[in-house]
Amino acid sequence: MSSARGGVYVHLPFCPYVCPYCDFAKWPLRRSDAAKYLAALHAEIEAAPDFAGTTLFFGGGTPNTYEPAQIANLVARLRARFAPDGFAETTIELNPDGELCTDAAFAAYRDAGIDRVSFGVQSFVPAELALLGRRHTPQDVATAVARARAAGIANVSLDLIFGTPGQNEATWRASLAAALALGPNHISTYGLTIEDDTPYADWYAREPAAFASNDLEAELYAIAIGTLEDAGFEHYEISNFARAGARSQHNANYWRNGEYLGLGVGAASYRDGTRSIHTKDRDAYVAAATAGLPIPGDDERLDGAARVGEAAMLALRTREGVDLAYFAERYALDFLDFYRPVVARWRESGTLDVTPTHVRLTQRGRFVANDVCAAFVILSEAPEARSRRTGP
Ligand code: SF4
Repeated sequence: MSSARGGVYVHLPFCPYVCPYCDFAKWPLRRSDAAKYLAALHAEIEAAPDFAGTTLFFGGGTPNTYEPAQIANLVARLRARFAPDGFAETTIELNPDGELCTDAAFAAYRDAGIDRVSFGVQSFVPAELALLGRRHTPQDVATAVARARAAGIANVSLDLIFGTPGQNEATWRASLAAALALGPNHISTYGLTIEDDTPYADWYAREPAAFASNDLEAELYAIAIGTLEDAGFEHYEISNFARAGARSQHNANYWRNGEYLGLGVGAASYRDGTRSIHTKDRDAYVAAATAGLPIPGDDERLDGAARVGEAAMLALRTREGVDLAYFAERYALDFLDFYRPVVARWRESGTLDVTPTHVRLTQRGRFVANDVCAAFVILSEAPEARSRRTGP
């Protein structure tokens, strides 16, 4: 039996409608396509390699385009296959649309063992929701949260986006206040990114001024940090805030560079030092999984410096940062020596804090996190860095 263990991710790619900013692997719902996909997914689950699942996460797409009984059936199969003693945390991403978030749905999720729900809210401002192409209302979100809690699912997360067209400091503060008023355990805030080949990319090309400037985006991020920390949330990862004890266990495993198993179209896995990603071609995925053949996709073996760079990038995103003793033990590596030039450069610029035990982003560093993290990956891939590697 393989010793691989970690989070299990299941991709459910259908949506009731497609949002103009989104570049996830997703398709507008057609029942016949969704049924074929579900059958393929079950076939992949049965044929998947042995894996000890610690957490389970349904993402999408919009997982609640499937019937609650179908979700419950999936949870049962996944548990039987990967976690006979149960998952430590089972999360489902939900569109808060009123028709999709019924009392019966939450009761079914609870009975299936789902103990965490993550709502794709994005904004509580109707005009912003309209521009984002979202059809739910702020009242839908409040109703959905109340229904989840009434069903006994206490662990609620809300996703918000900042930097959206038309947004300003006042409307962002209003969204944050409305989110806090619902008493969530966890909030994720993501800066809008303009993805290629989306309607938003066309809009941005025509009218860049309609979108937030870098300065405004930084200001909105600062408002989120200040507002949520003042409300008692811990800013435990660049985009994530949690009340005590409510960090996402599933995502924490990614940031620890732990192993994970991804199932479904476009899903990524990381096992035994190899990162692999399934094809984003849904027909190719369904055909292969249904026939019991290997799923087409790409594999990348992360050895040595690439593995350390990836781990450094992920760890720096978290509040704890890089644990020097952990890196020494896991990668047989003196982190400060290995990364001496890049640590010195970012420390001098006030973005890195170095203690005897950890290296982490400063307050200022959170605003340039992508640049800082990328520097560690780039250095780790340089030939001179590779030659100095002492780790596995
Ligand atoms: S943002 Fe979410 S709901 Fe909208 S199309 Fe993408 S996956 Fe579907």
